[in-house]
Amino acid sequence: MGIQQIEVYPVTLRYKEPFRIAPGASTESQNIVVRMLTDYEVFGWGESSPSQRVTGENAKTVVSVLDKIAPKLIGMCPLRIEQDIEVMDSVVTRNPAAKAAIDMALHDIFGKTSRKPLFMLMGGYRTEVLTDLTLGIKSPREMANDAVKAVNKGFKALKVKVGVNPAEDVECIRLIREAVGGDIQIGIDANQGWTHKQATEVLNKIEKFNIQFAEQPVPAEDIKGLIKVRKDSPIPIMADESVHSPEDALHLIQAGAVDLINIKLMKSGGILKGRKIADVAEAAGIPCMIGCMGESEIGIAAGAHLAAAVKNIQHADLDSDLLLKDKLVKKGGTKVKNSMRIFSKQYGLGIRELNQKLLGKPKRIYK
Ligand SMILES: [Mg+2]
Repeated sequence: MGIQQIEVYPVTLRYKEPFRIAPGASTESQNIVVRMLTDYEVFGWGESSPSQRVTGENAKTVVSVLDKIAPKLIGMCPLRIEQDIEVMDSVVTRNPAAKAAIDMALHDIFGKTSRKPLFMLMGGYRTEVLTDLTLGIKSPREMANDAVKAVNKGFKALKVKVGVNPAEDVECIRLIREAVGGDIQIGIDANQGWTHKQATEVLNKIEKFNIQFAEQPVPAEDIKGLIKVRKDSPIPIMADESVHSPEDALHLIQAGAVDLINIKLMKSGGILKGRKIADVAEAAGIPCMIGCMGESEIGIAAGAHLAAAVKNIQHADLDSDLLLKDKLVKKGGTKVKNSMRIFSKQYGLGIRELNQKLLGKPKRIYK
């Protein structure tokens, strides 16, 4: 039982509209799809959606890291995932987004070989996952309109991007809460955009609007700032850009810097280490969310399977496939109905058919 071939496909997926967060706007996501073939007629899909500002990776670095990693994996057993990942880590220390694509393909193969949906093999705590929908930064009035549209589509939770202008941030949250009423869950994400002082002011002003969590109020490396904001904030503080690995999670928890952690497969290097973050956090009584970068239905399915499997992943922000105009997966993956990510009975990640035109030809084939 061995990995026989790894194919690498760069794809560009356009957003429906420019997606703006505190550090900048995106019009497209440049992702790398991996297809891993075994010597027993099972193959797995994986995807990398790198973010330069979060892990320093981009489509080019992902391909060049896969150039180093993939040849080492040929011939290894795809089911010995811990060992495969140890090999990846021995070749390249960082570059988690590149490794996430391989990790996902391994897990897809694990599920297909075991003839079960992946989440059922990994714990099966939930059978559906509640996801929010993210509202990118626009004027407060436009964001309130977007919030109403999302709620009308059935979303029960919203994640609101803030962090550019503190006064507008407060106005935006006020208008959104007014527009959607009291029953909708609202979390906010400043993407490192505030200082400690701005964060403390905004969070105290918006407390009355019943906000579930405030994500990454201050810059990723400003752990002291995060500790101070958490002390002065009436709203639970979630770390995103500050936590990539299980080691980061342990460090921030020990420092008293977080109430919640946002796990992303592109930061952790995939499902295996994403789960380890959730487990470290669970031991400290810190719940986790699973988030995303600009993944298609492939990466989102991987996140959803992990979220369904693990009890301590209590929130999900798995929506990038919904924000993308280009649909890479034609059949399979997860679907969203009334804010819930629904799984099919397909094995592994459940990806059945890709849009061949979008996928194109492999840029690399390792065998
Ligand atoms: Mg975030």
